[in-house]
Amino acid sequence: MFNLFFITTFLLLTQAQASPQLIDVAQIDQRFNFDIVYATPNNFIKEKVYPLARCLIRKEVAGMLQKAQTYLDAHHKGYTLLFKDCYRPEHVQFKMWEVVKNTPQQKYVANPNTKTGSVHNYAAAVDVTLTDKTGHEVDMGTKHDHLGALSEIRYEEKHLKEGKLTHAQIAHRKILRDAMTKGGKFKTIRTEWWHFDAWQGQELRRRYKKLDIPLTVKISK
Ligand SMILES: [Zn+2]
Repeated sequence: MFNLFFITTFLLLTQAQASPQLIDVAQIDQRFNFDIVYATPNNFIKEKVYPLARCLIRKEVAGMLQKAQTYLDAHHKGYTLLFKDCYRPEHVQFKMWEVVKNTPQQKYVANPNTKTGSVHNYAAAVDVTLTDKTGHEVDMGTKHDHLGALSEIRYEEKHLKEGKLTHAQIAHRKILRDAMTKGGKFKTIRTEWWHFDAWQGQELRRRYKKLDIPLTVKISK
């Protein structure tokens, strides 16, 4: 009897917490593309860690993504957002951290034991790239999730001079950044060209809490 009571209360609380907050990004714009890498083994931990390919995000962040696409339509016609990762349950972050901890790659993965942790866990960050007017993924010089210096925004000019990145690859990255920061008002991080935060640090923590609800959660339309 008591067990049933607790289970029912838990389910109600989980749904009450999740449903009004999260939006399925596929519902925002029919043109959006998805390649949710953690729902496949094609990612840096080489393991499928999501039970399904789903891109969930906070309602306010969904509005920002819509503005980023509107900006592309106005200034870089033919380019469309292609999402690689969105909301990430916190237990997955711990798993990722275990893989990179005490390796040179650890600076590319947020430590879940720190005050803020990963903005993906708040459903307020996306990993995103572009498709061009032919529908193909554009060349950004590295794959999403390449955990190395070639992915770092701050070294782009250096890598261009050294012939490790081309003008076209950097131009593509700039189109993405232009849309996400000017159109969507997202913030970049220095280490990954594909990662964008809606908010960071104190402002993020003031607005939201980290989530660990499953990706299978029911979303109200
Ligand atoms: Zn990311």
